[in-house]
Amino acid sequence: MRPELMIEAEGLTKRYGKTVALAGVDFSVPAGTILGLLGPNGAGKTTAVRILTTLALPDGGRGTVAGIDVVSHPGEVRRHIGVAAQDATLDHLLTGRQNLVMIGELSDMGRAASRERAAQLLAQFELTDAADRVVKGYSGGMRRRLDLAGSLMTRPPVLFLDEPTTGLDPTSRQRVWEAIRELIGEGVTVLLTTQYLEEADALANRIVVVDHGRVIAEGTPLELKEASRSAHLEVTLAQPHPDAVGAIAPLVSGRVSVGDDGRRLSAAVDASTGLATAVVRALDASGVLVDNIEVRQPSLDDVFFSLTGGHIEEEGGGIDPGDANAARSAVDGDSGHKLEGVRS
Ligand code: ATP
Repeated sequence: MRPELMIEAEGLTKRYGKTVALAGVDFSVPAGTILGLLGPNGAGKTTAVRILTTLALPDGGRGTVAGIDVVSHPGEVRRHIGVAAQDATLDHLLTGRQNLVMIGELSDMGRAASRERAAQLLAQFELTDAADRVVKGYSGGMRRRLDLAGSLMTRPPVLFLDEPTTGLDPTSRQRVWEAIRELIGEGVTVLLTTQYLEEADALANRIVVVDHGRVIAEGTPLELKEASRSAHLEVTLAQPHPDAVGAIAPLVSGRVSVGDDGRRLSAAVDASTGLATAVVRALDASGVLVDNIEVRQPSLDDVFFSLTGGHIEEEGGGIDPGDANAARSAVDGDSGHKLEGVRS
């Protein structure tokens, strides 16, 4: 049986003056799953969320939440959704508990039910100790968790999380991820927008990659990685050797980069069996001693890179967009990198 689709976007278009924010976007989210809407700044993610949460009208196409049309029945849609947006909509002069109770009361939950639900959510998001302190003194991570709690006050079956961890440090990000994972366990359907590849990889059942208002790829994190043929070769030499680059150049698909110490070589390669053996043989034949060799399968960074020609920029320090190898190797294993679109 086809799982019920809790969120559907069909051919959504939206213009702001001359800017095409959405150029016909389609995606759907089956009940109880999490879809990652992944894309660089300005890709159209927030616009899609604003339309689906009834905060903006599309120019064309159709959006439904729980089968209800977002344009013709916005009030009904709002009763089914929770929204946690990038900029927390919290009153910083109230305590965490007061914020939650206020949200409950504004949603006609009644005072007693609001207090009970607030206490439950404060415990779930590990905010009980801070519950009666004003939000002004909360850390960024605590505010995001409180914002997330606020979006859950009315137990909505559908949740929109717009870049829930942007700007958070890795530890706070992990705690928000844990909170989101718990929600999925409870059967909530989530649309999560993110600029972080690792976030989509860690949380989403499926990922839709958007760029310039269009869907450019879709699949499970694994499918997207498998769709990218390029893998990455990393070789560590016992000591620098002048013939090393020449020996492996015929086996790789891109330029061979050499690390500052002259011992670490890296290059993009077409993933194929026996590649590591061929590399070791070629180096051995040139009299080059090898300490370590690794063929890394494509990460989502690689996938996005190959799809968009975009580059990945480290917060607080850029990477030359022309240097694919440098950009790729610079993001390995790190969770603090964002996608930046390359505008032509
Ligand atoms: P970010 O990650 O930066 O939030 P995004 O993927 O959410 O980016 P959107 O905010 O949807 O992207 O923006 C898509 C495009 O539409 C951008 O070029 C943006 O400048 C433009 N845009 C969005 N909202 C408006 C608006 N209210 N007025 C004018 N242009 C807008």
